[in-house]
Amino acid sequence: MISDIAIIGAGVAGMSAVQALRSEGYDGRLVLIGEEPQLPYDRTALSKGLLTGEFDEVPLLSPAAWYDEQEVQVVLDRAASRLDLRGREVVLDGDLRIRADRVLLATGAAARRPVVPGADLPGVETLRTAGEAERLRRAWQPGQRLVVVGGGLIGCEIATTAGKAGLEVTILEASDELLQRVLGRRLGGWTRELLQESGVDVRLGTGAAEFIGTDRVTGVLGTDGRLFPADIVIVSIGADPRTELAEQAGLACQRGIVVDDVGTTSSPAVFAVGDAASWPLHAGGRRSLETYLNSQGQAATAAAAMLGNPVPAPQIPLSWTEIAEHHFQMIGDIDGPGEHVLRGALDGGPSLLFRLVDGAVAAAVSVDASRDFAIATRLVGNGTRVDANALADTDLELRQLLRAARTTALAPSA
Ligand SMILES: Cc1cc2nc3c(=O)[nH]c(=O)nc-3n(C[C@H](O)[C@H](O)[C@H](O)COP(=O)(O)OP(=O)(O)OC[C@H]3O[C@@H](n4cnc5c(N)ncnc54)[C@H](O)[C@@H]3O)c2cc1C
Repeated sequence: MISDIAIIGAGVAGMSAVQALRSEGYDGRLVLIGEEPQLPYDRTALSKGLLTGEFDEVPLLSPAAWYDEQEVQVVLDRAASRLDLRGREVVLDGDLRIRADRVLLATGAAARRPVVPGADLPGVETLRTAGEAERLRRAWQPGQRLVVVGGGLIGCEIATTAGKAGLEVTILEASDELLQRVLGRRLGGWTRELLQESGVDVRLGTGAAEFIGTDRVTGVLGTDGRLFPADIVIVSIGADPRTELAEQAGLACQRGIVVDDVGTTSSPAVFAVGDAASWPLHAGGRRSLETYLNSQGQAATAAAAMLGNPVPAPQIPLSWTEIAEHHFQMIGDIDGPGEHVLRGALDGGPSLLFRLVDGAVAAAVSVDASRDFAIATRLVGNGTRVDANALADTDLELRQLLRAARTTALAPSA
């Protein structure tokens, strides 16, 4: 009988696990431990509404009263430093011990820092926490020169936000296109052009070789030998899953805490979810998905499994972003082998890009096409077989393709 559950990490995954455990009927002791000073907040807002000033304060996922209603003991500003699996305890900094029959690791990921000279100079920032976002918001002023190192999702969101705030923005991207992994080459190139039209200077094939400055960063020396003057530098070159507790406890880790498709680690008493977890994928393989919605979904799955209701849920990557005044929604991995089919014209109107593998829909990205994206998620989830020309034909409703595929699947074979 489980009577004590400890959740380590007070982010969206940790908070969603609280919600799911209580709604699954768990009425035992529940402790949520977070090393940041805030209650769980919406990390995705850091590079968007919080930096633009749309939000005065970091948006909490639930108000303080909600945690009281859920009868969860919240321990903030304290890190868990060790798991004692034999003694069934979580040890916190300062040596407080919390009893736990089951532990959920929801420790997230840490922003990666480059290992080049000057990387620890003041003014070389990363953006992962509310504290960092608030510091940046206070520091940046119109007219300042911002160099963003890394042209992925967060780097391009920051460039969008900073451009709107009147900063002069340069993106250094080591590969030959922006956003390739997230949006695919074609949409990545289109988005780059939009950013360039809005005044962002994009340097492809250029990484950071060195950060220049004595007391504070004054520029970035690119791998192309050019110097990019900077008042502020934000490094956005990815994140590494926080596996330190799991590793110390001897749990299997491989670029993330290795879990099965209900979130169980190599110890049956410990589960892991969210950015920290390397979760099996629907399309095969495994990795940390680093998305808000997958973190939520994994938390619900693991909570049910902890209580003895395992419903396997291999993950399909599902996320969104806002860049250059467009809303993108992504399902599956758009960057990969197969055929890419564009539906719509990418001229500012709603459009979708699909990736087909052997005629089956494997991934989709929507640009301002939320209604159709809902159907695209079903096409991807079912691995629906479609005709590429029909998919590209905007005179045919996407819903019709879904229906036609269902009818074919249900038809008796001759
Ligand atoms: C700037 C930014 C923008 C983003 N935008 C998007 C977006 O538009 N769309 C999208 O899908 N995703 C986005 N993401 C990704 C999304 O925010 C993450 O996938 C999600 O936050 C992961 O949730 P999590 O709870 O697993 O981890 P986290 O949110 O990282 O929370 C983990 C928490 O655990 C704490 N912790 C770690 N170790 C310990 C310990 N030993 N003891 C106690 N506490 C500990 C950490 O301090 C942290 O507070 C964005 C991320 C960032 C940084």
